[in-house]
Amino acid sequence: MTSTTEVAIIGGGAMGCAVAYYLAKAGVSSTIIESEGIATQASGYNAGGLNPLQGAGIPGALSDIAAKSFSMHADLAQTLEDESGVEYHHKTIAFVTVAFDDSDLPEMQATHDIFEAADGFRAHWLDAAELREMEPRLNPEARCGIYAYGNAILSGYEFTLALSRAAERMGARVRQGKAIALRTDGERVTGVTLQDGELACDAVVIASGPWSAQAGDWLGVSIPVEPYKGEILRLRIDGAMPPYDLSGGGTNLHIRADGLLWAGATEERKGFDREPSDSARQTLMTGATKLMPALAESAQVAKHTACLRPLTPDWLPIIGAAPGWDNAYLATGAGKKGILLAPAIGKATADIITAGETAAPVEGFGVGRFA
Ligand SMILES: Cc1cc2nc3c(=O)[nH]c(=O)nc-3n(C[C@H](O)[C@H](O)[C@H](O)COP(=O)(O)OP(=O)(O)OC[C@H]3O[C@@H](n4cnc5c(N)ncnc54)[C@H](O)[C@@H]3O)c2cc1C
Repeated sequence: MTSTTEVAIIGGGAMGCAVAYYLAKAGVSSTIIESEGIATQASGYNAGGLNPLQGAGIPGALSDIAAKSFSMHADLAQTLEDESGVEYHHKTIAFVTVAFDDSDLPEMQATHDIFEAADGFRAHWLDAAELREMEPRLNPEARCGIYAYGNAILSGYEFTLALSRAAERMGARVRQGKAIALRTDGERVTGVTLQDGELACDAVVIASGPWSAQAGDWLGVSIPVEPYKGEILRLRIDGAMPPYDLSGGGTNLHIRADGLLWAGATEERKGFDREPSDSARQTLMTGATKLMPALAESAQVAKHTACLRPLTPDWLPIIGAAPGWDNAYLATGAGKKGILLAPAIGKATADIITAGETAAPVEGFGVGRFA
């Protein structure tokens, strides 16, 4: 049986759910087509960091949209929990990054300067004694550190769920099923073929994360998004949590709302392999114990997750209309920053669908740049 929707969104991760949310706000109904469940991939198993000042493309091409999305997150935190009934633990935090040798210092100086220069952020140096006072369990080989305040975090799974629930409350639908093809008529997409039926639509959004390249085949458009595997260990530790997120020696330790200390994350090209691996577990435990040696005795692995970031060749997202099509749009490829960028990409995509343009800083992120 064929049902109908205004906009069919393929993918129920943060991107697809953000598009549905902002479409609903604009009075447009949509259906999120999701094969495995809302936020069951990277959007459910990420670190939930919203640092808008650092990362691939920041400072640089991603700076404006990262800043915009960071401030949209702050606004959403005032309303989205009420709109959805889902608590997702958005909060402003500090992190401390430590140096083990001189080679760490230039990057730390850059972190210091970037945080000091940005409105609402600040940073200062900590000497070895101050580090020890802050967290006596830190490796005594840590020579100095940077305290950086103003970043924010949230729980990625609950955030994505909140977007989809709020969208549903405003009229969006979630359809469990796998999209396997598009129905087309000239330059228009008229529907999505699922394994178990058809969904007619006025427009389609490809928000299928690392699986987006497959939809490119359906459209005859190259969507160069590849899976980039990341694993995280969630540790149950004896004693109090460290006072701040910690990083150094290539590992991050995040204090998260589930009461566990998250050690992450690995970065590997392993195709679509989503299995947690022994080698990643060992790498992450080695990094965690380098930061806090006591964890070797006191930490137990409560959960070990593996999932796939949607990565483009230039590590920048793909946003906007699919070339050659009247009503097909792309919201994908956000790599290591998809939770941060979801509000801005969702709003920009909804604007482009409803008004043909957006004030969001998305120039240069069209898929045409790879042609
Ligand atoms: C270890 C790790 C840590 C991370 N930490 C951070 C962080 O701290 N901050 C940050 O901003 N980002 C972080 N990220 C990145 C972030 O998680 C991703 O960029 C983001 O979740 C991507 O969202 P998405 O909606 O594009 O993709 P996904 O979450 O992968 O969602 C795509 C969805 O599409 C569905 N789908 C695919 N094909 C089909 C089909 N044919 N039919 C129906 N459904 C389909 C999939 O089932 C999936 O649910 C991290 C990622 C990893 C792996």
